[in-house]
Amino acid sequence: MLPSFLSWIYSRMNTQQKMDPADDLGSSMFELIRDLFPICRSITGNGVRETLRMINSIIPLEMKEVPSGTGVFDWVVPKEWNIKDAFIKDTRGNRIIDFHRSNLHVLNYSIPVKGNFKLDILKEHIFTIPDKPSWIPYRTSYYAEDWGFCMSHKQLQEMKEDTYEVQIDSTLHDGSLTYGEVYIKGKSSQEVLISTHICHPSLCNDNLSGIAVNTFLAESIRSSDPYYSYRFIFIPGTIGAITWLSENEQHLQRIKYGIVTSLLGLDDLFTYKRTRSGNESIDKIAEHILKTTAVDHVVTDFIPYGYDETQFCSPGINLPVCSLSRIPYGQYPEYHTSADDLNLISVKALKDSFELLSKIVMHIEADRKYINLFPKGEPQLGKRGLYDNVGGRNDSKEFQMALLWVLNFSDGSHSLTDISIRSGISVELITEASALLQIHALIKELD
Ligand code: ZN
Repeated sequence: MLPSFLSWIYSRMNTQQKMDPADDLGSSMFELIRDLFPICRSITGNGVRETLRMINSIIPLEMKEVPSGTGVFDWVVPKEWNIKDAFIKDTRGNRIIDFHRSNLHVLNYSIPVKGNFKLDILKEHIFTIPDKPSWIPYRTSYYAEDWGFCMSHKQLQEMKEDTYEVQIDSTLHDGSLTYGEVYIKGKSSQEVLISTHICHPSLCNDNLSGIAVNTFLAESIRSSDPYYSYRFIFIPGTIGAITWLSENEQHLQRIKYGIVTSLLGLDDLFTYKRTRSGNESIDKIAEHILKTTAVDHVVTDFIPYGYDETQFCSPGINLPVCSLSRIPYGQYPEYHTSADDLNLISVKALKDSFELLSKIVMHIEADRKYINLFPKGEPQLGKRGLYDNVGGRNDSKEFQMALLWVLNFSDGSHSLTDISIRSGISVELITEASALLQIHALIKELD
């Protein structure tokens, strides 16, 4: 009787617990992250395409290309950046910095450079983190043409006065910005938008974790038969969201719920950032789940700074989009450094993040309203045989209460999710009760 997504996800979550941990969903997400880790991504370029192709091997997606120079609201799609190689060689010809050892070594979006530089000149193009001397920082220069290298502070201090051979073999050309879209058609044309950023190179928590969780969440929803339609977008941060909005402006009214996910790989608290109004259905659902699943979490009001929720919640767009992450950006020491690697994230954190998002999806699926067709007095359940359906169950008392709650609050203004929240009865049981009441023609779904 459960809608298929609910029963499917429950059976999947229960099987996962019994399975060999090496074979479970958390491990599959971790494996995807390990495969995506070496790729040099940016806001444009072949690294993004390669990433999307790998996601496509799990969940079919449409890859879209928007040409450089396209005006998107107040922005312009930039030139496409690609890189083959980069190094700093000492006088003996040793590559003391090698792009192939870590793509973080190159200032992301560096223009090409080739030449010999004395250390004091070269230093003007070197970035380090003095208080974390063994980590390489992650730096970008998307919109101001520049070149540079990132390295550990320790390595910089070891560099002797010398002339160094330097090369960054990159290209900036009129190409396109690439993003990926997975559309899962449900019974309703109303949509749930789930977005994550794909523009960072070899960094795990930020944001291969978001990419992996969204990929497997999309795969799990596709394998079910959802009521709402789901649109997953894999986009470069900021410019990708602005480009997507500009390309899809005429369809935005279909979006009823939205979530921007990021930083889901650390075993730490969840951070929920409300929508712009703070009063949307997604706020009600996410806050209820966080409160009742006893996970450590913080809830913050919307501020116009952060990830792409700021674009989706800009005043001329104003979509009901929230943001979900674990510990927020900038608040863990490894943020935007080479220490955000495969050792930092955990299979358990990925799995917990997936399960929390699955619960949110379950509650979205139940966020539908019904109308009681016999609202005057209680309808007579006995004569319709409903008590026969209840009697043999272990949870008969609670199921009977679920029937009464659904009958009383199916007044056209409360969804099944609202009834679950108000009654404290699980959304699965409320949904099951509603299915039985529909069979007996006691309630009817509102369009
Ligand atoms: Zn970041």
